[in-house]
Amino acid sequence: MRLGVDLGGTKIEVAVYDDAGREVVRRRAPTPRAGYDVALEEFARLIAEAEKEAGARCSVGIGMPGTIVPRSGRVVNAYNTPFNGRRLKQDLEKKLERELRFANDANCFALSEAIDGAARGAEVVFGAILGTGVGGGIVVHGRVLNGLHGISGEWGHTPLPWMSAEEHPGPVCNCGRRGCIEQFVSGPALAREKSAHGEANALAIYADRLARALSLVINFLDPDVIVVGGGVSRETRIYASVPELLPRYVYSQTVETPLVPAAHGDASGVRGAAMLWPA
Ligand SMILES: [Zn+2]
Repeated sequence: MRLGVDLGGTKIEVAVYDDAGREVVRRRAPTPRAGYDVALEEFARLIAEAEKEAGARCSVGIGMPGTIVPRSGRVVNAYNTPFNGRRLKQDLEKKLERELRFANDANCFALSEAIDGAARGAEVVFGAILGTGVGGGIVVHGRVLNGLHGISGEWGHTPLPWMSAEEHPGPVCNCGRRGCIEQFVSGPALAREKSAHGEANALAIYADRLARALSLVINFLDPDVIVVGGGVSRETRIYASVPELLPRYVYSQTVETPLVPAAHGDASGVRGAAMLWPA
């Protein structure tokens, strides 16, 4: 059996899947707020309890914000978890007495959708999360591309292309830089636009920004499909309006890249984490 964990800033989701991919256990708990040692203990216990409920020793995959730097083994960019800056993989492996696989949550999302979701069968998949933040993951031939620094697919922290005079230089981002894509196409960015310009206008402005942001992905990676997750994925109009705008920005005579909503919704993260281990 495969156990997947989606570690978020507010909650931890744990699910166990049998050989047929059926979910047999699901648990949810608030993300521990205590210091590292206590949080680690609680985290390990949550996994052990789910495993006990499943009644079998499981492979364990964990999806989380940020990444684990391959060279140092330390968690980075997971600011709202108690594990940032720590050697979480090493410490949790000791507690659970087995090898664990970790991946960025956007990578887990992309993997889940590539294996048996909205991008099933596609060779190169880009998963774009448009939520509180903007994340991205790349899956090639059914495998997550991690990268030397574990940041493959992090398109959210590059500048929005072709900024207008009004957009330039853009808001300050959580990463400390200015004008990041995240500041223009996240859920909160869309909400801000709606309160300033009304629903229809805001969606038009948003679609153009998203088209510019995704043109960067298409020029660089040219994925077979782009799957959208996160809160904004429920804005159904973007799946028609954004592809219409892409030819203005993509370096190609024709642009046929499908833009599709995630098939597994919020469950994609926990499913993809379990899939870090092959069936
Ligand atoms: Zn940024």
